[in-house]
Amino acid sequence: MNSNKSKRGRAAPGEVYAVIKRIAAENGRDFVWHYVLAAAFLAAIAGTTAFTAWIMRDVIDEIFYRQRADLIVLISLSIAAAFVLRGIATYGQAVILAKVGNNLVARYQRRLFDHLMKLDMEFFSTTRSGQVAAQINENVSGIRSILNITVTSIARDFVSLIGLVGVMVFQDPILSLFALLIGPPLVFFVSHLMRRLRRLNHDAILVNSRLIGAMQEAIQGMAIVKAFTMEDQLSGKMHDLVADSEARSNKIARVSERLSPISEMLGGFVFAAVIGYAGYRATFGAQPPGTIVAFLTALILAYDPARRLARTQVGLERALVNARMIYEVLDTVPRQEDAADAGQLEVGKGDIRFDSVSFRYGPEAPVLHDLSFLAPGGKTTAIVGASGAGKSTLIALLQRFYDVSGGLIEIDGQDISTVTKRSLRQQIAYVSQHPFLFEGSIGDNIRYGRPDATDTEVEAAARQAFADDFIREQPKGYDTPVGESGATLSGGQRQRISIARALVRNAPILLLDEATSALDNESEARVQAALATATKGRTTIVIAHRLSTVINADHIVVLDHGRLVEEGTHAGLMADPNSIYARFHNLHDEAGLGLLDDTAETALEEAQRAGAAAGS
Ligand code: ADP
Repeated sequence: MNSNKSKRGRAAPGEVYAVIKRIAAENGRDFVWHYVLAAAFLAAIAGTTAFTAWIMRDVIDEIFYRQRADLIVLISLSIAAAFVLRGIATYGQAVILAKVGNNLVARYQRRLFDHLMKLDMEFFSTTRSGQVAAQINENVSGIRSILNITVTSIARDFVSLIGLVGVMVFQDPILSLFALLIGPPLVFFVSHLMRRLRRLNHDAILVNSRLIGAMQEAIQGMAIVKAFTMEDQLSGKMHDLVADSEARSNKIARVSERLSPISEMLGGFVFAAVIGYAGYRATFGAQPPGTIVAFLTALILAYDPARRLARTQVGLERALVNARMIYEVLDTVPRQEDAADAGQLEVGKGDIRFDSVSFRYGPEAPVLHDLSFLAPGGKTTAIVGASGAGKSTLIALLQRFYDVSGGLIEIDGQDISTVTKRSLRQQIAYVSQHPFLFEGSIGDNIRYGRPDATDTEVEAAARQAFADDFIREQPKGYDTPVGESGATLSGGQRQRISIARALVRNAPILLLDEATSALDNESEARVQAALATATKGRTTIVIAHRLSTVINADHIVVLDHGRLVEEGTHAGLMADPNSIYARFHNLHDEAGLGLLDDTAETALEEAQRAGAAAGS
């Protein structure tokens, strides 16, 4: 469905109608009665407008020319009635169409968010989040105009136009012919404009969403911005984007506003021709002036809807670009859908086995090679390796954020690619390196671990994670909102909240990505104590950055450039003084580091090189 053609913003005219058809097909049915009612109001508007022009002949001929006093009241009242009806109908259609438009925006917002939730990690690792959000926002409002524009313009202006042209033809067929000559050049010019604007609009939307996305990123990363005094650089970049966006908007205005001089000019020709011909005819023939006044009124009244219709086409063009971009997201098929016969994962002992697992992110070189090991059920397995060795990838594969390229991962003998992703992830609790707190209260943030957890369970988890004390000290306790104007939490406190979230999930498997950044001693001790509770009795795989974690682990797996180079217990690996692990550990001890930070990882690389040199 998602053609490459549309990505580049060059849509064939056929595609334009396909988009309108699709929007109507997907949403139209629920709004049929709204449209019927709106159409009735619109028809009333068109009818009363045409009536106003038509009655002009009687106004002139009957009232002024023949001086029929008996008709004065009737004609005046009927004009007043037409205007009252028109007012009511205008109100009715505007309210109905706004309601439909708002509902449509809500529908697409819901659909887009739900669809984003379904997309695979690959989509998010290759897309900038702020930009996606900005693009969605911009495009959703575009889709509202598509319906409002088509319906309002087609129904109100088109119907009005037909009515008025009807009056013109009825009053004077020959003069009408003059007036209608404006049609073909106008249509030709509008379609030429539309083709030009399609590309301009597409690019402008992209630049705008980049701009808003970049702004959002700068605000989110304000601490880094200030720390690295990046303000001037970022402002410079932002000003470039703003200038680009401004220039594009100006270009769009220059192109689309070409419509005004052209339609004014064509309109002027028509008026001149009509008045010239009618004046000539009036001079040489005797005809009451009513017909020509009615004709001119219709022509004047028709001029606005005709101009609006032409303008609408141009606006519609942008809305269509918006709609196509929305469908690009909606049509992105999530990869690695569950197999049709996927079962539920049943976890007993909780053994996790990597069996000859290979993995590559894309066409590039593989990042994991033929990796096999067992993380025994209920025990803690520490993954050690230099940065870039593939530790995070391994954790991602276990959660099926990506599918393995070769081999398989088994939990209690069940291949994880044969069970539903939901059942797999429900058995896993994950504590990331950077604790992420979502909008909402502290309590909400813990409860995301298990939505049906009771308050007592949430509090129990917080106590186990050594978080209960500081949460109670917050202004509203568990109900304190996190983030702006709410609780200001330290790094250690955030970590303990995310550990409480993992604890309340009560899953048999725990995945831990240890923080590399140091906390103050007290926080550190509490986070460690919280983690010790969390790992008890669970199959834990931890990306270890702390020496104590590695030493206390039941099993250690040493990764090097995506390969498993050593595994065993601390004692077992230390027994061989030539093992990479032992060298690394000794180097590390000499350095007196408590944390396997970058320095330590460099030490590990050195140890690996020394090992390789000794082996060769
Ligand atoms: P570690 O966690 O040990 O630091 P990672 O698993 O993050 O290592 O990375 C292993 C390798 O995979 C690195 O070379 C990294 O550049 C690459 N990599 C990680 N994430 C992606 C991704 N989303 N797309 C492409 N390559 C990636």
